[in-house]
Amino acid sequence: MPESKEIVAALEKIKSEYAAAAKAAKSSAELGDWKAKYLGKKGELSSVMSSMGALGAEDKKVVGRIANEIKSAVEALYEEQLEAVHSSEYLARLGVVGDVTLPSVGVPRGRTHPLYDTLEEISSIFISLGFSVADGPEIEDDYHNFAALNFPDAHPAKEMQDTFYVSSVGDKEMLLRTHTSPVQIRAMKSGKPPFKFIAPGRVYRHEAIDAAHSYVFHQVEGFCVDNKTNLADLKTVLEMFIEKYFGKRLPIRFRPSYFPFTEPSVEVDVECLVCSGAGCKACKNSGYIELLGAGMIHPNVLSNCGLDPNIWQGYAFGIGVERFAMQKYGVDDMRLFYKNEMRFLGQF
Ligand SMILES: [Zn+2]
Repeated sequence: MPESKEIVAALEKIKSEYAAAAKAAKSSAELGDWKAKYLGKKGELSSVMSSMGALGAEDKKVVGRIANEIKSAVEALYEEQLEAVHSSEYLARLGVVGDVTLPSVGVPRGRTHPLYDTLEEISSIFISLGFSVADGPEIEDDYHNFAALNFPDAHPAKEMQDTFYVSSVGDKEMLLRTHTSPVQIRAMKSGKPPFKFIAPGRVYRHEAIDAAHSYVFHQVEGFCVDNKTNLADLKTVLEMFIEKYFGKRLPIRFRPSYFPFTEPSVEVDVECLVCSGAGCKACKNSGYIELLGAGMIHPNVLSNCGLDPNIWQGYAFGIGVERFAMQKYGVDDMRLFYKNEMRFLGQF
């Protein structure tokens, strides 16, 4: 005859095993077997309980209570597991893989590209300074991209290594515009001064790609023509723009330079924000970064467009959008903007 101690030990064994066995049952059939093993007429619990007959009244009471507790727990777990197994079997029939009750991983939200944001921001500052916005084609002819802008025929910028030429149209050699300046020509040819606009857009140059260069990049052309605008106005507008864009006054440098379409020409540098003037990859260790080229419109350009340079004058500038974005966001390699790397883009 089993003693009370042995029966309790057998019950404790069942108690320690049933829950893990239920979790292992992945289908309703397996769960049915599990139920039979513990609760069936020939199951473990029944056989232990049937051996209780020989116990004394006091022992029977104690052992009976333990057995009933286990039985209720097994029954409750069966109901719970049955529901889980049914729902996973249902989802499997629908072709749903995985546990739909797990918390969602979240859907990443789309956002605008940092270069687009920069282009928008630059444009909105110039609009606040009284400029309107003009547009022009990205595929241009030699006349609008070079000749009308006073490029001599043998200018190095026209050579194959700088310009992407595309198929000719009639006797016109077509190319991908190397700057946004052709928009000036189109505006002067089709309208009457005064002009005061910006022309944001994509430009192309046959250049080797490195941390500061790309074969496609963005420019914002600035253009102002009337009968009194001078170099001091250009300087003021650019200083106001740079201060607004960076949110503070930064050391700015105007360096004499040369462009065929402006006279005098200047290059505008601002202290490198990536390294605060100490020197880094983005500024080629100079402490300054060249942000834009500018100047007073060359009299030849005005005459080419039918404007008398003795009456009309003005300035033009070309802003490198990538450089402004790199400075503002502390990015030291332009190539990062074009890689579509989500970890990079997600920071903006
Ligand atoms: Zn630097």
